[in-house]
Amino acid sequence: MAAAGRAESRTVRTRWVRLAALVFAILLAVPSGASLAEAPVPQGRTVLTLPFDGDWSVTWGGITLAQNYHGRLWPLSRYAFDFSGVNEQGQHYRGDGRRVTDYFGYGRPILAPAAGRIIFVENGRPDAVPRTQPPMTAVANTVRIQHDSGDVSSLLHLQPGSIVVSVGQRVAARQMVARCGNSGYSTGPHLHYNLQRGTTPDRIAVLASFAWIWVQRDGAWTEEARYSPIKGQLIRQGDYTRLTDMTPSGTPTSGISVQIRPGQIILDGR
Ligand SMILES: [Zn+2]
Repeated sequence: MAAAGRAESRTVRTRWVRLAALVFAILLAVPSGASLAEAPVPQGRTVLTLPFDGDWSVTWGGITLAQNYHGRLWPLSRYAFDFSGVNEQGQHYRGDGRRVTDYFGYGRPILAPAAGRIIFVENGRPDAVPRTQPPMTAVANTVRIQHDSGDVSSLLHLQPGSIVVSVGQRVAARQMVARCGNSGYSTGPHLHYNLQRGTTPDRIAVLASFAWIWVQRDGAWTEEARYSPIKGQLIRQGDYTRLTDMTPSGTPTSGISVQIRPGQIILDGR
């Protein structure tokens, strides 16, 4: 027992040393929140729809570190979103939330946000137990879609065995690719979504915005022609069949809407 205890404490010490090294590396790698927010934000070139139907909350999303913890952890997920399915009362789960099936988002269909080709699939990884902390190295079930613009969408934490597409397959916008799950580094069922451009080592994170979505701010829903949601908002897909030419222009920031006028796009800071 004593020997086991000593071995355990060595393991604990080793973990602390590794954790301290990781934190130090992150502090060196990530600029302050202010400079991150002031840096030009590269914008996705793809007209996207939300990768789901129904009401979802934006647990993390935006360009500042306060809005979006992803920026502290992974540069290629700097502008990623965590979306959590909610019920009509805006709640994430029923009961004590310790089972994946307690969550209103769990098992909901996850859709291709735009047409493209499947370039990566990871399937069959188990769900983590909600409200526990899995290791950061836990692998999530994942689908990656390369859009015709060259942008790549990544959809993570998918339900084990739920992926219905395979590498090389073409998908249409809004085609179901999998179901929402809790695999990988996740403390409760949600969808991690991010958009990237380029190939390694020049791959960069870009800001995704979505066409014709409803956004709830301060209790009121408004419809946005093109919008990048931020932490704390509720969102749902509107009628995307009205899509017109929405080639991005200008320097976007997060939490803004882009209004379409004939022949032009106007950035409407909000
Ligand atoms: Zn995430």
